[in-house]
Order: sequence, then structure tokens, then C-alpha cells
Amino acid sequence: MARFVLLATAGLAALASVVLMVTSTHAEVLPAPLQPIRPAAVAEAPPPKVWVVEKSGPEEIYSNGLRIDNRYVVSHYPRSYLAFPADHRAPPVRRYDPAGIVFHTTESHQAPFEADHNDLLRRIGESLLDYVQRRFAYHFLIDRFGRVYRVVAEGDAADHAGPSLWADSRWLYVNLNRSFLGISFEARTEPGQTESGASPAQVRAAAILTEMLRSRYGIPAANCVTHAQVSVNPANMQVGYHTDWASGFPFEQVGLPNNYAQALPAVWAFGFLASADYRAATGERLAEGVDRAEETVRAGAQAEKSSVPTYRKHLQEGYRQRLSELN
Ligand SMILES: [Zn+2]
Repeated sequence: MARFVLLATAGLAALASVVLMVTSTHAEVLPAPLQPIRPAAVAEAPPPKVWVVEKSGPEEIYSNGLRIDNRYVVSHYPRSYLAFPADHRAPPVRRYDPAGIVFHTTESHQAPFEADHNDLLRRIGESLLDYVQRRFAYHFLIDRFGRVYRVVAEGDAADHAGPSLWADSRWLYVNLNRSFLGISFEARTEPGQTESGASPAQVRAAAILTEMLRSRYGIPAANCVTHAQVSVNPANMQVGYHTDWASGFPFEQVGLPNNYAQALPAVWAFGFLASADYRAATGERLAEGVDRAEETVRAGAQAEKSSVPTYRKHLQEGYRQRLSELN
């Protein structure tokens, strides 16, 4: 039997005025979290088709101008993961293709980006590649000159995201090392910065790399997000254990909608809390996603006729259940 709840959402009336939520009354299944209203900007436009034009030695050249250097590629373990239906009404499905992309910064030492420092810039970049390779840290690294290196093989998982969560309108993803590709910029991000710390060459490279990966795997734009949006700390149930790209990620220049505006799934789907420290580290754009998620939690509690803390406990129980299904 299903229960239908019509929920008026006055605050977000500009985007949509009514959400239709279906909750299962199955005894052993937890009620599904209330879905947030998605910002209009997140509407999907499929990426253009991108293909390999040439492979010469360790270099691949693509039809959109992307060049990938394979000199540092290393295998880890094959990608295989569970995607959980967001309505909790069916068992998880096993998948092998990446569901999304997480953008990172290396937060590594930076030399001044000037011609006088070419040697130093190159040396730092090379030692960083060694480090990333030893740690299986990312699938791709974009150095400060915009060169794209494949590090962990695309068909393998990489240790880039740690405890982390994301969701789209149909699926919940728990721990993204296996389900999302990791792309890292050789860059540092500062708390609250509004400008991207990346060089223009890096941004251009990220745009064509993202386009190629979205074309190859059919990755939705809404699933291309930053580490700060997905990282969680299960020990204190707070979001944002890692805060790289907490602000300033150039979504639009990378050819994506402003995904900072998306309600944070860690909050609305899994009951995690955004601390004052996290809010301080995020820019205004990500703060919008946090607010939207918290609004959804309040609306979800209202729909269940329970208090916010009780509803949140419910969501957290759902998280632990999903985690145990993974292990
Ligand atoms: Zn990161």
C-alpha cells in the first residue's frame, strides 16, 4: 500500500510549487527521504559525441581537442558498486560504469605561475604525479599547464573520495571511490574563496575531459560535483570532512550547470549535519545547496508528522542500512 503526500513548498515556489511524494508503508523498509526540488539550471543537455582520433605512443588525442598522457597510468582494482534506488522500493543494482565525476584539488605545494619558474613548476608537477600514482589517488590529474594525465585506469576504482555520498533523482550512491571518477586539479583552494584557484589552461582541459567522459559513459551533468559537496565524516555525522572546491569551482566554464545549487544529498537523504565550520569553508554558492537540503529535511519531517531530529535519525538509519549492504 502506498501513501501519497502533497506538499506545498512556499519558499521555492519559483522553481515548482508542489512536490508529490510517495512513501512505502512496507514494514521492513524505511520510508524514502523526501526529494528536494531541483534547480532549473540542472536540467539535462546531453554532451556532444567525443571519440578517440589517434593514439601515438603514450598519448591519446580526442575529437574535441583533448589530449591524455598515459605515461603514469596504473591499475588498482576493477570498478563494481551498488546503486540504491532513491525511493527505497527495490533492491540495489550492481553497476560497472562510472555514475559521476568528483572534482578535487591536490592541495599541494604551489610555485608562482610564471615563466621564470618553469623548471620548478615542472619538478613539482612530476613529483606530484608520482605521489598520486603511489596512492591510487585519482583517475586524472590536470597539471598547472593544463596537461591531462590518466593515473588510475578508467575501469578501476581510485581512492579519491573516502566516505562520501551523492544522489540524483533516481539513485543514491554511498562511498564514491568505486562509483565516481576522480579528477584533480594541481591547485589549492582557500576557505571561502570565490575565484577559482585553477589556471585558465586547467579549466579548459577540465571542460574537454569532462565532455569526453560524459560522452563515453552517459554521465548526467548533475552528477559532476566537487569533493566538498560529497565528503562526509561518519564519526560525527557531519558533512565536509574534505573541503576541496568548497567554493570557486568554475562549473559554468567547465560546461556544467551550477551544481553548487543542488541540495546536498548527505543532508537531505542521509541525515548528516552541516557544521558552522563547514559553512565557513563554503562559499555563497554551496551555502545555497546546504540551505536547500535543510529545507527539504524540515519539509520531510513535516510530511512524516515528526520532529526534525526524529526524521533526521530516520535518514541516518537509512545511511547505516545502506552502508551495511555495501560491506
Ligand atoms: Zn579531494
